[in-house]
Amino acid sequence: MAIKEQPKSPQFRIIANILLAVSGLFLILNLFLPGLFASGPAGVPYSLFIHQVQEGEVSRVSVGQNQITYQLKTENAEPGQVFATTPIFDLELPKLLEQKGVEFAATPPPKNTWFTTLLSWVIPPLIFIGIWQFFLARGAGGGGPQGVLSIGKSKAKVYVEGESAKITFADVAGVEEAKTELVEIVDFLKTPGRFTQIGARIPKGVLLVGPPGTGKTLLAKAVAGEAGVPFFSISGSEFVELFVGVGSSRVRDLFEQAKKQAPCIIFIDELDAIGKSRSSNGFYGGNDEREQTLNQLLTEMDGFAAGDATVIVLAATNRPEILDPALLRPGRFDRQVLVDRPDLSDREAILKIHAQKVKLGDDVNLKAIATRTPGFAGADLANLVNEAALLAARNLRQSVAQEDFAEAIERVVAGLEKKSRVMNETEKKIVAYHEVGHAMVGVLTTGNGRVEKISIIPRGMAALGYTLQLPTEDRFLLNEAELRGQIATLLGGRSAEEIVFNSITTGASNDLQRATDLAERMVTAYGMSKVLGPLAYQQGQQAMFLGNGATNPRRAVSEETSKAIDSEVKEIVETAHEQALEILRQNRDLLEAIATQLLETEVIEGEKLHNLLSQVKPITNS
Ligand code: ADP
Ligand code: MG
Ligand code: ZN
Repeated sequence: MAIKEQPKSPQFRIIANILLAVSGLFLILNLFLPGLFASGPAGVPYSLFIHQVQEGEVSRVSVGQNQITYQLKTENAEPGQVFATTPIFDLELPKLLEQKGVEFAATPPPKNTWFTTLLSWVIPPLIFIGIWQFFLARGAGGGGPQGVLSIGKSKAKVYVEGESAKITFADVAGVEEAKTELVEIVDFLKTPGRFTQIGARIPKGVLLVGPPGTGKTLLAKAVAGEAGVPFFSISGSEFVELFVGVGSSRVRDLFEQAKKQAPCIIFIDELDAIGKSRSSNGFYGGNDEREQTLNQLLTEMDGFAAGDATVIVLAATNRPEILDPALLRPGRFDRQVLVDRPDLSDREAILKIHAQKVKLGDDVNLKAIATRTPGFAGADLANLVNEAALLAARNLRQSVAQEDFAEAIERVVAGLEKKSRVMNETEKKIVAYHEVGHAMVGVLTTGNGRVEKISIIPRGMAALGYTLQLPTEDRFLLNEAELRGQIATLLGGRSAEEIVFNSITTGASNDLQRATDLAERMVTAYGMSKVLGPLAYQQGQQAMFLGNGATNPRRAVSEETSKAIDSEVKEIVETAHEQALEILRQNRDLLEAIATQLLETEVIEGEKLHNLLSQVKPITNS
């Protein structure tokens, strides 16, 4: 599949350049016109004219705005000869002329010739167009291939099938439901007759919905590849540009071209950039433009009816909740296909696809890697494979080993190792106890993954040390006890600091934030509080694809309810805190032992860590 620029017709450019040149010429002419065409009657000083009037030599006077022309009595000049003078603002002149019995009149303002009319009407727009194009050429970014006057031309890239490697469904792993739906679309494109013959309406719009990096773009390309049809791809943000009206004409142009090439696919990436709900407009400018573009898109989608050429519009978005409802009506994007994050077996399949591109060592276990990467999207996994290959190359290995993958996972999860960062001894000690605290509480509470590694080597930006917990399986549902366990584990770090140093540092702020958020969600979203009951106190749905951290504003609640929520959240966090403190107090010796060892080696992991942590005693109520 190759990317081709839409051919730009060169005639446009030539015509536009000629227009530009001509308009420039007109402008220059216009500036010098008075000088060029005003060579009429002979000029006479005003004083001489007055003198001639007073002497009674003047017969007729015609007073214009910029010029007085007059004739002399025949005895003083050749008949018909006209003299001209530039008038001075002189209120006495009419009186004087009357006294001397001169015939006089005002000249009507000069009659517009066709030429001046042309000038005054044609030049300003031409100049305007010139300026417009100048800015457009700059605004178009690079400007080069976008010919002048091609303002409204769509910037769609066309993937022409057949050249180089084409993408098929085999290149997309997982997302089985999405694939099933799209196979049907491929059938529509390949044999539209089979469907129209029995009166079935071919769907026009299919919306791919899913988090970033899950393969929406890839799927759209695979549809084109499978069906063997042209694929027009454009991003929503490219529609909305500097000039008002450009977006809608781009849409019109895109559909026009697509219809000529039918059957084909139009793919609009980031549909939310133009398809935002019209009612949710902010106060910023540019909304009109987006609205017009959206309206044009709706018009175009309604425009091609059954029997028309088969053009299927695929679109992708990771924010379906903000789309304008009008887009989702029947006859528009009436099919929605969910492209979700891959589960364990999907992740293995995706890794398999991307691992084909690198040399794998014998010890590599893709399943193990998949187990360790829950929440990774396809793009993250592709990145992971590449990261591992880079590490292998850096370590001068011939092939990628499992250990490269392990390090790559940590890299992607926790940021790059920063060995250069130095902590002083006291800080290091605090971090060591803090992390061991997390690990020990984590072992005794449910809802946590297995603790695989404790490290006090700083990584990334925030963490000074970290405790790596890897889930043993994919979890979709958590119960109350597990959530409470997670909160206690988050507070384990701070609790260890309290017990050992009897003071608290700033290091735990992120832990506290996360613990509080979790507790708040238990109360306001999951209905886990007995006091408040199974009510949702958060407004609307938790934003589905925006990670899990975002808490929505609370719905309007009474003051009492608000207080009750606060006290319930506090109760949950404090109970968890007590639990964490208790675990660590009863295992105080082990805490010392592990922390001391961690300070020595900086990292404890694997078998050694499991052995140490298995010695943690459950709390006994004495
Ligand atoms: P999206 O459009 O959903 O943000 P992309 O389609 O651009 O994601 O995916 C980016 C890259 O991630 C793809 O080019 C591909 O290499 C990889 N990828 C994502 N999902 C998958 C998948 N299901 N199977 C194989 N590769 C995938
Ligand atoms: Mg994409
Ligand atoms: Zn911590």
